[in-house]
Amino acid sequence: MADFQRREFMAAAAALAATTSAAFFGSTPAEAGDPSFMNNVPDPLLSGKELPTFKFSLESSEGKVVGNSYGKEATVLQLPISKGIAGVSMKLEPGAMRELHWHATAAEWAFVLEGRVRTTVIEPRGAAETNDFEPGDVWYFPRGHGHMLECLGNKPAHFILIFDNGYFSEFGTFSISDWIGHTPKKLLAKNFGVSESDFNGFPTDEVYFARGAMPPEKPAAPLQGWKLPALTHKYQLLAQPPHRVFKGGREWRVDSTSFPISKTVTGVILDLEPGGLRELHWHPTADEWQYVIDGDISVTMFGSHGRYRTETMTEGDVGYIPQGYGHSIENVGTKPCRVLIGFNTGVYETIDLSQWIAGNSSDILATNFSKPVALFEKFPKADVFITDEQGH
Ligand code: MN
Ligand code: MN
Repeated sequence: MADFQRREFMAAAAALAATTSAAFFGSTPAEAGDPSFMNNVPDPLLSGKELPTFKFSLESSEGKVVGNSYGKEATVLQLPISKGIAGVSMKLEPGAMRELHWHATAAEWAFVLEGRVRTTVIEPRGAAETNDFEPGDVWYFPRGHGHMLECLGNKPAHFILIFDNGYFSEFGTFSISDWIGHTPKKLLAKNFGVSESDFNGFPTDEVYFARGAMPPEKPAAPLQGWKLPALTHKYQLLAQPPHRVFKGGREWRVDSTSFPISKTVTGVILDLEPGGLRELHWHPTADEWQYVIDGDISVTMFGSHGRYRTETMTEGDVGYIPQGYGHSIENVGTKPCRVLIGFNTGVYETIDLSQWIAGNSSDILATNFSKPVALFEKFPKADVFITDEQGH
């Protein structure tokens, strides 16, 4: 084979290999449920010499605006690293409703920041639940369960939604007005046992944010003769005492052990005093999605093979740490900070670096680092979790 022929042959073979692997492992953009991680095939985005950015300024993005209501989203389009989890910041003005809809590809978890929200959700066995939420409360709707959200009272409601799928888009959900608007009236009339003309003037496009009268202060639900689901969709996270308290900060946490319906999402509120540090750690079974509610933080990420990246985040910014990647969160501002953290697991797990070191005897560490045994006697003998400014 002549040189130029060999070159062409090699190029063709490489192209074929690329096509084949793309077919097996998902090309760019990869498909939801990309199995490459399970096969230990490196994610192309995470296999380069440098780690990609893991920060997105969610609140400064444009999003979808109707009147004084908005939805701003962080999916793989805005933050490519965030394949496991998507997030939305949503504001509803008084009288506004996020219309009846479901998500075919994701469960929805939410944390209320401001105002009050009423939700109604239906489950496949036909039970429906209506709940009212205040700041600090959490909801969880399993994948595919139909729901609506409406602002309660005369103040706007602001909440953060987390979805257990980074490919999910809030703007690609299944809305009731979209469905009914595209179904022939004849079929609708038969379906509901009413006349075709009853559907005159229905919206023909997706409504998304509906606007109307302020909802009644007391919900009509439970509807008469209607049964409630076995598991509630509401959890009052900040009404509980913090899960863990330290000099440098505190943490509230909710997963399926305390909120049984939340089988695929764990939520955390992390408060750090100025200089406080959530120590170096990793999560063996989940990706981590961060939203800065208040303050200024520095987030570090260790990605193996000498790759290390730091992002500075402020109020309204989103961060993302892939499953198994080392990281830390530090308050670098002058006032206390608060971070909302979501994980795509119903059972929270962490391994903290101090805990790992404490779990090994000093002679092992001495050999590992080629340092005297006595040095490691000074290290913490238990999990640190959060330290204060002085490292206490
Ligand atoms: Mn939803
Ligand atoms: Mn973490």
